[in-house]
Amino acid sequence: MSSITVPPPKCLQKTFVAPRRHMFGPGPSNVPPRILAAGAEPIIGHMHPEMLEIMSDIKSGIQYAFQTQNNMTIAVSGTGHTAMECAIFNAVEPGEGVLTAVNGIWGERAAEMAERIGCHWALAKHKPVLFFLTHGESSTGVVHPLDGIGDICHKHNCLFLVDCVASMGGAPLHMDKQGIDILYSGSQKVLNAPPGTAPISFSERACQKVFNRKTKPVSFFLDMTWLANYWGCDGKPARIYHHTAPVSAFYSLRESLAILAEQGLENSWQRHKEVAEYFHEGLENMGLKLFVKDKNARLPTVTTIVAPPGYDWKEITSYIMKNHNLEISGGLGPSVGQVLRVGLMGGNSSKASVDMVLEALRDALRYCHKSKV
Ligand code: PMP
Repeated sequence: MSSITVPPPKCLQKTFVAPRRHMFGPGPSNVPPRILAAGAEPIIGHMHPEMLEIMSDIKSGIQYAFQTQNNMTIAVSGTGHTAMECAIFNAVEPGEGVLTAVNGIWGERAAEMAERIGCHWALAKHKPVLFFLTHGESSTGVVHPLDGIGDICHKHNCLFLVDCVASMGGAPLHMDKQGIDILYSGSQKVLNAPPGTAPISFSERACQKVFNRKTKPVSFFLDMTWLANYWGCDGKPARIYHHTAPVSAFYSLRESLAILAEQGLENSWQRHKEVAEYFHEGLENMGLKLFVKDKNARLPTVTTIVAPPGYDWKEITSYIMKNHNLEISGGLGPSVGQVLRVGLMGGNSSKASVDMVLEALRDALRYCHKSKV
């Protein structure tokens, strides 16, 4: 008699093949064969010397992508949210004040994370120790200027934390020059790597705060004291096991950073700008309206289009998925129901992709039902 009471699931007997799809939503983006191939290399141990070398390469790649000399530069094992929590959990202690700029959903989420660890939302008069700002707001399609803000924060003894998940590699960003103290991103947008790793970097000023806390950070997994050691950033000769790094994900991340380095950051910024302008012009020629009126405030990676009046936006996105095998998405958080979002990031940032999206939208507007709303 078998002791098994739950039989092997029938669904797992079917061979799995992932659909081939144009990933033109706000992320994840398509992963090019070269990065997929890197991720398919054989597994080695997470503490083997070759792995430590890969991590060192990743660190250099992130320093380049962020334009920083910060020694405390690593990739967190997890998505953008993990890096967000890593930044907040390490930089602030319960009872301290955090100020977040809400220019879309990400500021709201940062505020919630701070609240969960017992920090209060601070107004300027409450002397915040951390100011959070999203550079590329993927929910609203806004790119926020950063110049000068770091100086103001530092004058008030406050750290400047920036989210560049949706903008890194797609819009100009200079961590050191812009006085950013903590900067984090994600792997699945402009970098075109699979979701699951998140670059993050801490300035000297941020390290002073992070490594002189009175209390331990609430998360063991995200404690920078441990992660700094695992990434060889703490100057100690021995690396101590903290967690099993996602080995394949690090291979892919390394390859994606190598591609960015080969192409050149400035070329990548320029291409995203030109492709976005070409896209925006095409949308306006079709009679569609851009959600962000000010051209300079438009995020080059994720475009928000005013949901065409009289149409059900969900029908448009479903139609395009079904008939064009192409993902675009609706709004998120404050922009739900108001916009369609199209992300053209990394290798997807090309005029050929733009033409494909414009054709799909033209077709959807012809065939979707105007009367449904
Ligand atoms: N910040 C921004 C600006 C984002 O666009 C995203 C992902 N859409 C995140 C944070 C969160 O990243 P993840 O989904 O990888 O956790």
